[in-house]
Amino acid sequence: RAKERGRNHFQFYSTTMTTKASLVLRLENLLHRALENQELSLYYQPQVKIKTGEITGIEALLRWTHPELGQVSPHKLIPLAEQTDLIIPIGQWALKTACQQSLDWQKLGIKPLPIAVNFSARQFQQPNLVTLINQVLEETGLAPNLLELEITETTIMQNEDFARQALEELRQMGVHISLDDFGTGYSSLSYLQKFPLTTLKIDQCFTHSLKDNPQDLAIISAIITLGNHLQLRVIAEGVETLQQLEILQRLHCQEAQGFWFSRPLNSEDITQLLKQYFLSGLEEDDLKN
Ligand code: C2E
Ligand code: MG
Ligand code: MG
Ligand code: MG
Repeated sequence: RAKERGRNHFQFYSTTMTTKASLVLRLENLLHRALENQELSLYYQPQVKIKTGEITGIEALLRWTHPELGQVSPHKLIPLAEQTDLIIPIGQWALKTACQQSLDWQKLGIKPLPIAVNFSARQFQQPNLVTLINQVLEETGLAPNLLELEITETTIMQNEDFARQALEELRQMGVHISLDDFGTGYSSLSYLQKFPLTTLKIDQCFTHSLKDNPQDLAIISAIITLGNHLQLRVIAEGVETLQQLEILQRLHCQEAQGFWFSRPLNSEDITQLLKQYFLSGLEEDDLKN
């Protein structure tokens, strides 16, 4: 009987393993084909100067729409891509698509805007990172100072020496460096000084907990002040309400990003928004002529 139980147990275990493994394989396969089948796309969210409402930049965000699964969240997609190394071709595709999109906007006469592209740890730690980025800039012809890399503290922490070297080289090329989700990792304030950053993005959890009470304000206020003093662009993420925006402005936060201004939009919709924003005056003139 023990033997039977053992065998049953083994079979049960084995079946579970197989199911798990094949699920991962299936997702992996689907993700493999996602690139070929053009199921991946980039959405774009504006970054806005709080005082004036001026659009100061655009962040590119990856989207995967599978014909049966529907939308797969980046929170699932990115870890899967990281595990399978698919992050390398997918990341390269995203970088190139974002740079190309930025140039397409310029061709429409829209003011050149920095385009921010997220890099996950594995992607950032490619030994030939700088070369690959350079290649994309050369292939597309985008000015390096219009590209901004978004990385997190956790990514830097995994290999500080590599990060410093790579970031120095990228800065020398003119590429901007943004520290994403600031305040959520094993934050080390010294990172802000040790690495050649240009932008600090305050994580949306701070924005969301922003209430008009002294303790909540103290932390976010300190981050903003620090960023301002280090002459970094400071962007608050995840702004959803006017109240949040007003508090941020009082704390001298210069820029914000979030649903309050615009959800991330597909290429067509963001292009429409940018045209309306930057070209509506010109279009009126065109009609008169
Ligand atoms: P992230 O870079 O911090 O991006 C901000 C996330 O907040 C985005 O989620 C965006 O859609 C969402 N968001 C923007 N405004 C608001 C708001 O007002 N309220 C709320 N609740 N959310 C807001 P998304 O697009 O699902 O991306 C999640 C994460 O996936 C990103 O966080 C980034 O770490 C990663 N990711 C996205 N695209 C890429 C990519 O192309 N490459 C890599 N490596 N990672 C990416
Ligand atoms: Mg980001
Ligand atoms: Mg973020
Ligand atoms: Mg995030």
